[in-house]
Amino acid sequence: MATTKTKAYGVESEKDNLKPMEIERRDVGDDDVKIKITYCGVCHSDIHTARNEWGGSKYPVVPGHEIIGHVTAVGKNVKNFKEGDVVGVGCLVDSCQECPQCKNDLEQFCEKGATFTYNSDDKHLKGKQTFGGYSTSVVVDKEFVLKIPKNLDEAGAAPLLCAGITTWSPLSHWKIKKGDKVGVVGLGGLGHMGVKFANALGAHVVMITTSPSKADDAKKLGAHEVLISKNEAEMAKHQGTFDFILNTIPVGHKMDPYIGLLKIDATMVLVGAVEPLEPFHGGGIIMGRKRIAGSLIGGIKETQEMLDFCGKHNIVSDIELINMKDINEAYDRVVKADVKYRFVIDMASLGD
Ligand code: NAP
Ligand code: ZN
Repeated sequence: MATTKTKAYGVESEKDNLKPMEIERRDVGDDDVKIKITYCGVCHSDIHTARNEWGGSKYPVVPGHEIIGHVTAVGKNVKNFKEGDVVGVGCLVDSCQECPQCKNDLEQFCEKGATFTYNSDDKHLKGKQTFGGYSTSVVVDKEFVLKIPKNLDEAGAAPLLCAGITTWSPLSHWKIKKGDKVGVVGLGGLGHMGVKFANALGAHVVMITTSPSKADDAKKLGAHEVLISKNEAEMAKHQGTFDFILNTIPVGHKMDPYIGLLKIDATMVLVGAVEPLEPFHGGGIIMGRKRIAGSLIGGIKETQEMLDFCGKHNIVSDIELINMKDINEAYDRVVKADVKYRFVIDMASLGD
């Protein structure tokens, strides 16, 4: 298949810093949308993958799955998008479209294996892997392209494509409603979207953070209370009171303190730690019929619903806009939990 060279930023190995490189994108097929990337968010998953923290990274890795851009070309079967449209691409770029999960709008759980935006086997370029949004353009199957509501700021909308859907999906699946006491653990990219969404759904939102310095921001973002997780006396006051907890901690951690916060029959959903957790006490969930669950991004239909909700309620991410060359410093700051609250790369800084 014919390809075109595209500028990108990526790593050659897990020890490498991100640096300029050239990658190939397939030429536009009948079902494809070609997108000139204007902004790309920086997710903690980009760092886990670049640094092979989850294992299985295939190099080179070009991260980036919070993509916003403008359509520059469409294939002949594409009816819903035209040149100039502002569109988004999240974590998924392909799936079988036929299995029960795909038919049920849960492409992320495709039984044949979803194709993720980076570091997946590329279905179109045999023997190659997919490359993400830290680049000037991308070609994506029309079924995996999202419409961005016109009123939303483009740079601020980029993080909706991963941080947004990953927090929206569990809040929606577990039917969070007005008056529920919802805890969001970790005020980073995901956590700050979780706070905004839980607030917009009418919940009583408690930001559960290790960083006392983030308390004022948490309230501006929509938290009604802030709970410092390292403060045992404060944690004790909230014991057994939460209807739902969304846990975005990016690494293995002690779960018992958070389990203790749940009410009877309440659920804590993990989205962050894709790695072993520290052992937790079975009694903590047995006494109270509590549930621990997980959630992975969201399907394409649900992602569009989330974007439309954001358009209606004018919700975007709070971002720090950076130039491509500043990405390595940004990674180090994310790892230190020092980002307000999502880095977004201005892709014009990569050059055409
Ligand atoms: P992030 O911006 O780094 O935010 C994580 C926050 O968690 C930090 O800002 C910090 O907040 C808190 N934290 C960090 N280390 C901690 C520790 N050891 N103990 C307690 N709290 C800690 O990361 P992100 O981009 O939001 O992503 C969060 C995680 O979700 C990552 O692992 C990412 O790979 C994963 N992820 C999963 C999915 C999915 O579909 N399931 C999708 C996207 C991302 P405070 O300072 O407030 O404590
Ligand atoms: Zn992500």
